[in-house]
Amino acid sequence: MDSLDGGMAGAEELSTALLVLEEQHVTDAEASYATAVELERQAAALGDGHLLARARVCRGNMLIRTGDLAGAARAVYGVQAWATAHGNRRLRARVHAACATIEELAGDTAKGLEHSLSAVELLDGTATAYMQVWYRVRLADGLAFNGDMEAARLRYRQAETLARELRQWERLMRVLNNWASSEHVAGEFPRARDVARRMREHAAAHGLDLDPVALDTIGAIQIENGEFAEAEQTMLACIARHEAGEIDSANDLAHYLVTLARARRGLGATGRAQASLDASRALCVARDLPEVLVRVHQEQAELHSVRGEHAEAFAAHKVFAAAREEWRVRQEQGTALIRHTMFEVAEAREEAARFREQARRDPLTGLRNRRYIDEELPALIAADPDLSVAVCDIDHFKRINDELSHDVGDQVLVQVAKLLETELAAVAPDGFVARLGGEEFLLVLRATPVDLAVRRLDRIRRAIGDHGWHATTGGLPVTVSIGVAGAGETYPRSQSAALSAADRNLYAAKHAGRDRVVSGTPPEPRPRAYRDRATP
Ligand code: GH3
Ligand code: MG
Ligand code: MG
Repeated sequence: MDSLDGGMAGAEELSTALLVLEEQHVTDAEASYATAVELERQAAALGDGHLLARARVCRGNMLIRTGDLAGAARAVYGVQAWATAHGNRRLRARVHAACATIEELAGDTAKGLEHSLSAVELLDGTATAYMQVWYRVRLADGLAFNGDMEAARLRYRQAETLARELRQWERLMRVLNNWASSEHVAGEFPRARDVARRMREHAAAHGLDLDPVALDTIGAIQIENGEFAEAEQTMLACIARHEAGEIDSANDLAHYLVTLARARRGLGATGRAQASLDASRALCVARDLPEVLVRVHQEQAELHSVRGEHAEAFAAHKVFAAAREEWRVRQEQGTALIRHTMFEVAEAREEAARFREQARRDPLTGLRNRRYIDEELPALIAADPDLSVAVCDIDHFKRINDELSHDVGDQVLVQVAKLLETELAAVAPDGFVARLGGEEFLLVLRATPVDLAVRRLDRIRRAIGDHGWHATTGGLPVTVSIGVAGAGETYPRSQSAALSAADRNLYAAKHAGRDRVVSGTPPEPRPRAYRDRATP
C-alpha cells in the first residue's frame, strides 16, 4: 500500500492492493473508504475497466459500513451491468455479494437472498479462500433471515468445513459467530449455545482473540440460556475489550451496555442493571442513536417490572412502543430513499442501453448500421455455416437524385429500406437488414444456404421493382441488384471474406444488366470491388 500513496501503480500492484481491501476484516470503515477512493482513482487513470469495477465495489462496500446505503447502491449497481457483460466469475460474484448486503439492508431480504445465491453459484476454482468461505456464510445468513434455518445450517456447516480445510482460522471465528447469532435470532437457544461454545473452543485452541462482536453474541446467548452470571462477565469483558480498541463506535458500546443490563436484571442485580442502562441511555442521547434507544426503553420497562414498579413499567412501555414506531417510520423512509436511488441507477443504465442501441441504427432509414454489423455479424458467421449474406444496391440511383431531387432520393431510400425489412422478415425472420452506406444495403439470412437465399432474395428484388413507385418518382423505375454469398463457402470464414464475395457478385449483377440476383461468381481473376469502380 505504501508504494501506492501519491504515485501511479501498475495494474498488478493495484490488483494486489484491491485484494487486500476486498478481503480485509474492516475495522475502520472511514480509512478503508479513503483507500478505496484512491484505488478507484488509480484504476481510472490506468483505464482498466476490470480494476475500476473492483475498486467501485470496494468503495460501495465501505459506504455500506459508513451507513451511506444510497451511495453504496449507486457505486455497486453502477458497475453491475458492466460486470455482467465483461467481468470474470470472481468480479461477478463480488458484485452479487455486495448487492446482497445492500438489498438486505434496504429491506428486501428475498432479493438479498437471490444475490447471495448468485454469488455462491459463481464460485469456482478461481475464487479465493475468503470468497469460498464467506459467501457461503452470507448465503446462510440470508436463508436464516428468511426463516429457513434448516437450509442455513447446511451452508454454515459447509463454510465451517471449508474454513477448517483452508486453515482460515480467523475467518472461522466469523463463521461461527454468524451461525451462533442466527440460531439465537431464530430462538434456537441450545443450538446457539452449542455453536458459541465451539467458537470459544476454537479461539482458545488457536490463540485467537474473542473480539467485542463475538463476546456480545456469546453474552446474548448466555442470557437466553439463563446463564446470567457468565453473561455479566462476558459483557464486562466485551466492554473492556471495546474500550481498549482503537475504534470509537458509540453505537456498539450502547448496545453492549443494554445487553449487560439484561444480564444483570437476570441476576436480580437491578441496581447494577439500572447503572449500565443509564450509561447506555446517556450515550444514545449524546450521540443520537435512536435505534439503541428503542432497546433502552424496552429494557427500562422490563427493569421497572421486575422491581414491581408497575405504573412506571407501563409508562416506560408506552415510551418504548412510541420510539419503536418512530424508528420504524424512519427506517421505512430510509429504505424508500435507497430503493429510489437503485431505481434511478437502473434507469440511467437503460438510458445508456438506449443510446447504444441508437448508435447502432442508421438515422435516415432506421435500419441497423455498419457498427451493428461489425459488432454482431462475426459471431453469427462463426456460429452458422449456412448463413448467407447479400449486398443490395439500388440501380441508377444517381439518376433519381439528379432528375428528381436529393429529397426524393431520400424518400426512395426510406421506402426501399422498409420493403427490404418487411420482405426479409417474411422469409427469414431471424435475419436482419442493415444500411451499409449510400444506396447499399446488407441482408443477412441465417440458416439459409446460398441456393435457397438466391430464390428468396429474388422474390424481394421483384417486390421492390413491382412496388408502386409512381407517386414518389413519377415515371422513373426503382430496381435493385443483389450479390449473394454463403458465409460457409468463403475462405477464410470471416465477415470480410463473405462481404467481398457478395460484393463481387453484385458487380457481376450490375455488369449483366442490373435488376437481378447473382451468386457463385468465381473469385479469379480478381475483379476490382464494385464500390471502387467509376460509375459507367
Ligand atoms: P449503379 O446502378 O451502378 O449502382 O448506379 P448508381 O447511380 O446507383 O451508383 P452511384 O454509386 O454512381 O451513385 C450512388 C449515388 O447515391 C451517389 C450519391 O450521391 C447518392 N447517395 C448516397 N447516399 C445518399 C443519401 O443518403 N441520400 C441521397 N438522396 N442520395 C445518396
Ligand atoms: Mg447504385
Ligand atoms: Mg452504390
